[in-house]
Amino acid sequence: MGLERTLTIIKPDGVEQQNVGDIIKKLEGNQFRIKAVKMVRLMRQQAEKFYAVHRERDFFNDLTRYMSSGPILVLVLEGENAIDRLRDLMGATDPRKAAKGTIRQLYATSIEKNVIHGSDGPATAKTEISYFFSALEVL
Ligand code: GDP
Repeated sequence: MGLERTLTIIKPDGVEQQNVGDIIKKLEGNQFRIKAVKMVRLMRQQAEKFYAVHRERDFFNDLTRYMSSGPILVLVLEGENAIDRLRDLMGATDPRKAAKGTIRQLYATSIEKNVIHGSDGPATAKTEISYFFSALEVL
C-alpha cells in the first residue's frame, strides 16, 4: 500500500491497433500518474531477458516472438497501491476471463495478444523499471 511505482507496457497489438490513446486515458482516469514513457522495439533477445521467469513455459517462444514483433510503449506509473490496482484494471491474462470494463476485456484479442503488461509485485516493479529506464529518466 501507499504510493507505489509500477511498470506497464502497451504491447505490440495495442500499438498496432491504435489503442494507445484509449489505454492511457483509462490509466490517467484511474489515478495513475505517468512518470516516464518511451516507445521501443525489443530485439528477440531483449524480450527473452524481460520474460526470463517464463523461460520454461511452453508459450515462451510464442511470447517472445510476439513481444519483439513491433513497437511497444513502456511507461512508469505512480499511484496509491499502483501495482495491484494496475493488475485489477488490466483484467485477467485471458481476455475471455477478464472482468467487464478492464483493459484486456476491452482491447485484447487472445491470451497471448492481451495488450498490456503490469508488474506483479514490488520487487518485479523495481527490476522492470530499471530494465527500461535510468534513474534520470523517471521524473
Ligand atoms: P500476466 O501477468 O497476466 O501478463 O500473465 P503471465 O505472467 O502469466 O504471462 C505473461 C504473458 O505471457 C501474458 O500476458 C501473455 O501475453 C502470455 N501468455 C500467458 N499465458 C499464455 C498462454 O497460455 N499462451 C500464450 N501464447 N501466451 C501466454
